[in-house]
Amino acid sequence: MTAMGCGNDDLIVRRLRELGEESPDLKELAQAYAAFLPLLDNSGLHVSPPSLTAEEARTKMEGGHHLLDGLDLELDLQEVQALMLRLAGSLEKRLQGSRVRLIGSALQDEILDVAGLLSLAARGESDSIRLAAEDLGLDHRLLKTLAESALRPAFRAWRRQLSSLADGVSWNKGTCYVCGALPTLGEFRDNNLMKYLRCGRCGADWQFRRLQCLYCGNEDHRSLGFLYMEGDKKQYRVEVCDKCKGYLKVISTFSPTPSALLQVEDLATLRLDYIAQSHGYIRPGVQGSVAEQGIA
Ligand SMILES: [Zn+2]
Ligand SMILES: [Zn+2]
Repeated sequence: MTAMGCGNDDLIVRRLRELGEESPDLKELAQAYAAFLPLLDNSGLHVSPPSLTAEEARTKMEGGHHLLDGLDLELDLQEVQALMLRLAGSLEKRLQGSRVRLIGSALQDEILDVAGLLSLAARGESDSIRLAAEDLGLDHRLLKTLAESALRPAFRAWRRQLSSLADGVSWNKGTCYVCGALPTLGEFRDNNLMKYLRCGRCGADWQFRRLQCLYCGNEDHRSLGFLYMEGDKKQYRVEVCDKCKGYLKVISTFSPTPSALLQVEDLATLRLDYIAQSHGYIRPGVQGSVAEQGIA
């Protein structure tokens, strides 16, 4: 398992600009992501390392539990709330309409239960966020995006602090060994010989069997398949499972995608989501899935 750096802002901004030019319908969203970058990089969050020894980490993972599972995580909610406000402010400058402004005011006036919202977002409880947002007349997808984005620097810090504890420990699950989220993308590396899964929430990566559905464990090649984006057969594809109808987008890379670029690649491959979904496949509870954000 490799630790991902999260610099590379020039590369990411360039990628976002290209994306806006290739797909004008994604331009606004790409600009919003670019605006988030410096705020997330310089979030100023104070993230204390969770208390976990190498021995405890091994026992946990061997028992099938991710590293953060059940740990007391210290996070200054005031700081996360302030970061959410800054993210909302930067979106407001770029996106038209009142949806962002309403969330900004709810945050500012402390109408929102931010602590509750963040703990729902950290647990990936999208339905509860939707209900809470609807109660206050707020856009739930936008609110979820902001909460997940505001939490991301903390999850990345925890991954940096903990991932070395997993060195040499095997992990065969389809969920992240650090934070428990489902992967945002898969990556083929080493001339497509190895498959890795990538967590968009904390940036972790871990090796996974090439021919296995990460959602239901299906290994029967007759019910596992691939879909391609027209004209781009090599770099991107969707792996689909006919047993559980789940799908995963997989990209071919020479080296691991920097963690800050994962959301951008997710956005850049949105067409693959449409292709997979139009064939009746679903993407179960992905953290920060652009396909369900709809903030453009
Ligand atoms: Zn993770
Ligand atoms: Zn499956």
